[in-house]
Amino acid sequence: MNPGLRARNNASYSFELRRLVKRLLTAAAVSVLISACATSPTGRNQLILVSPEVAAVESQKAYVSTVQQLDAEQKLLDDPELADRVQLITGRLVAIAIDEYPHTRDWEWSVVLIDDPSTVNAWCMAGGRMAVYSGLFKAAHLDDEELAQIMGHEISHALANHTAERMSVALASSAGVIAAGVAAENTGIVLVGAALAAKLAIELPNSRKSEAEADQIGIELAAKAGYNPAAAVSLWQKMELAAGSGPVEFLSTHPSPDNRREKLRAMVPEMLEIQRAAYVSPYPVTIIRDEADLASAPGQNSASPASY
Ligand SMILES: [Zn+2]
Repeated sequence: MNPGLRARNNASYSFELRRLVKRLLTAAAVSVLISACATSPTGRNQLILVSPEVAAVESQKAYVSTVQQLDAEQKLLDDPELADRVQLITGRLVAIAIDEYPHTRDWEWSVVLIDDPSTVNAWCMAGGRMAVYSGLFKAAHLDDEELAQIMGHEISHALANHTAERMSVALASSAGVIAAGVAAENTGIVLVGAALAAKLAIELPNSRKSEAEADQIGIELAAKAGYNPAAAVSLWQKMELAAGSGPVEFLSTHPSPDNRREKLRAMVPEMLEIQRAAYVSPYPVTIIRDEADLASAPGQNSASPASY
């Protein structure tokens, strides 16, 4: 490359880097001032250095870039039958979530279906942006009842602000590293900063306490949406079976306590009592088939991308 052009590119890159770091650090600092501590829906104390608003905004950026990348790699799954199943199941769960957590009515509830048969994974970011990998059906052989349990669990992580909690831990441990990277003009560090939102939202393992919390909220959400609570037990059996023949990404981001299935099994009788027999009308969750669908997610056109 022409040395003059490289120098100009480096100067511009450096400016972008400083701007990004300033934004991240300012967001973290402001959040520390306004919300250092919070209480989860089950009454657990949470250290929240990142406000739910910042988590939602950063998650939105991560989601948009994830969808763009999947589109470029032709990994967005075009399967109308599966799309209908996923839309119905997540829609019924979201209808109950909005009932119980009214502020989530303004979330951008949407699901991207990912064509990746060997990846056993699903997630829900802050603000209601979800993903389902085809490996859940191809490698783990989940049925509709089990998909309802896994998505109930994922939605519960978002309802309980676990995204913000995970971002807080990562920001607290990496802010110094990012600042040092600026001082050293280390361009490798910017990749950490730019990828931070996505990594923080979906790639870090949840804590055991967060897992127990999402299990509890999730099985209840699914029961109220009409789904069989016993599927929460068979879901984890199938995950363990799938892990026998290859890596299961879901298990690494959702560490499983040894007694998880026993705890879920013990919840089943009480959940059967609250399982709704009447049909629950689904909320119109947006299925993301291409980049253009991102603009049609509920709440997308409001002044605030996600309100709390
Ligand atoms: Zn989990």
